[in-house]
Amino acid sequence: MKDIVKTTKLYAILSIVVLMSTLLALLPEKEGFGDKKDELKTQARTQSRVQTQTQQVQPQTRIPVLLYHRLGPVVADSMTITTADFESHLKYLKRNGYTVIPLRELVDYYLGKVRQLPPRAVAIVADDGHKSVYTYMLPLVKQYHVAVTLFIYPSAISNASYAMTWNQLREIKETGLFDFQSHTYWHPNFKREKKRLAPKEYEKSVDMQLKKSKEKLEKELGVKVDMLAWPFGIYDDNLIAKATEAGYVAGFSIERRYTSSSDNVMALPRFLINAENRGKSFENILTGAAPAIKVDK
Ligand SMILES: [Zn+2]
Repeated sequence: MKDIVKTTKLYAILSIVVLMSTLLALLPEKEGFGDKKDELKTQARTQSRVQTQTQQVQPQTRIPVLLYHRLGPVVADSMTITTADFESHLKYLKRNGYTVIPLRELVDYYLGKVRQLPPRAVAIVADDGHKSVYTYMLPLVKQYHVAVTLFIYPSAISNASYAMTWNQLREIKETGLFDFQSHTYWHPNFKREKKRLAPKEYEKSVDMQLKKSKEKLEKELGVKVDMLAWPFGIYDDNLIAKATEAGYVAGFSIERRYTSSSDNVMALPRFLINAENRGKSFENILTGAAPAIKVDK
């Protein structure tokens, strides 16, 4: 009898122990499941946020193209920004999750060759082939590993004292971070040329500017040249037709606004960055808050 009682007690104790250990075992599992549920919830939230962002960004896709010219220790003229300011721009982009996309990717997007661009996409370009691009921009471009497109007018290269040499351009090309595109052959003011020259002469000169630049850049640098930055941002329907005929698939102006799918791909706008575009002013360009300013051509 005593034995039976003992056994029953033992059973009871054992049952309690089993029950408790089961409960204990369940507890962390419950917590774990809770964690998993929260994680799933967070995932879903993040996904829907990303989707919302994508939905918001993709249809109108307003991407700023940042246009630089010269860099230097001091602001020597209206086209120069300090090297320190340029670095602060690159730092800002990096810290705030912007993706510097090659200009080619942006063009391919508007041409329908690329379906999607990363959120917070931005493109960096520099016009004119000034030697300060080699001296001051190149080291920072390498350090921050960003893509830059240089629009070059070949008549100045290895010729004008302010410009880079072909060897410097080839050295820059070696980094794999740069693309080289056309800024016509000698940077004419097409508006003035049209007034100055007889119609036939003008047409001939336009063809030369567009074709010779492309050929020279392709020959010297071994790159495909089919993008054009309009000198002084001057373009019209006739010039666009001539550029298309010469093999260009995209063109860029200096209209100070965001690129969007409603733009003519042969005249995409760019933000000309000057010394005033620092701090909040630079941030506004990135966040979409910069007012659109139509530059008088
Ligand atoms: Zn220029």
